[in-house]
Amino acid sequence: MRKWIVAGNWKMHNTIAESIALARAIKEGFSGSANGEVVVAPPFTALSAVGDALKGSAVRLAAQNMYSEDKGAFTGEISPVMLKDAGCACVIIGHSERRKFFSETDDGVNAKVKKALAAGLKPIVCVGETDEERVQGVTQSVVGRQVRGALAGVEKLDDVVIAYEPVWAIGTGKVATSAQAEEVHAFVRGLIRELFGAAAEELRILYGGSVTKDNVAELAAMEDIDGALVGGASLKPDGFLGIIAKMP
Ligand code: PEP
Repeated sequence: MRKWIVAGNWKMHNTIAESIALARAIKEGFSGSANGEVVVAPPFTALSAVGDALKGSAVRLAAQNMYSEDKGAFTGEISPVMLKDAGCACVIIGHSERRKFFSETDDGVNAKVKKALAAGLKPIVCVGETDEERVQGVTQSVVGRQVRGALAGVEKLDDVVIAYEPVWAIGTGKVATSAQAEEVHAFVRGLIRELFGAAAEELRILYGGSVTKDNVAELAAMEDIDGALVGGASLKPDGFLGIIAKMP
């Protein structure tokens, strides 16, 4: 049985005070579950304060990005060592907004994944096709290339989570149908089976893209969907707790 994960990506939202208030509300509303895990990814500036606010809770802390070096002259970057120091257990890597606005490549994602694992952080690796790619019928080749690229040279999958996030579904209110999502999730698991063998059965593959408390149950019923990466609906306690409440 793969344990479900609900992860909230707060993106570039919330001051420190707003982040603490949201974290406290989530902590109050989620006292832990045998079925699933809950993760929140505040902006860098609020990581430490949210980590403090979550102490004693079952909610884990994630960062939204990192650099692929431990330290050095890389102005403006944050290292995995710093994220660990701030209390992070996980880090989102290769989000489509980073690929689109900050030119992240499969090679760059791969370097970050390896560095995160070496530092003891669990990477949540995002993959997904654009609208045009789906229309062109190349979803599997795009997602396959991203998965192979992200995991090249990775030896153990134990701490890796993959998030399938069709770019056309992110922040658009246009959630993939459960059948569309399951098709890609099953494809990703099949590819992982080819690359890593039996470890594929343990790998959590999250779906992301306009997930809400109203549509998560249908996605959760799918065989290969093991959680949700949530943007917009993670910014309000009700929306996020409503999704958590529907973990299968
Ligand atoms: C995301 O940012 O990863 C995401 C899935 O956003 P939203 O839920 O708003 O579509």
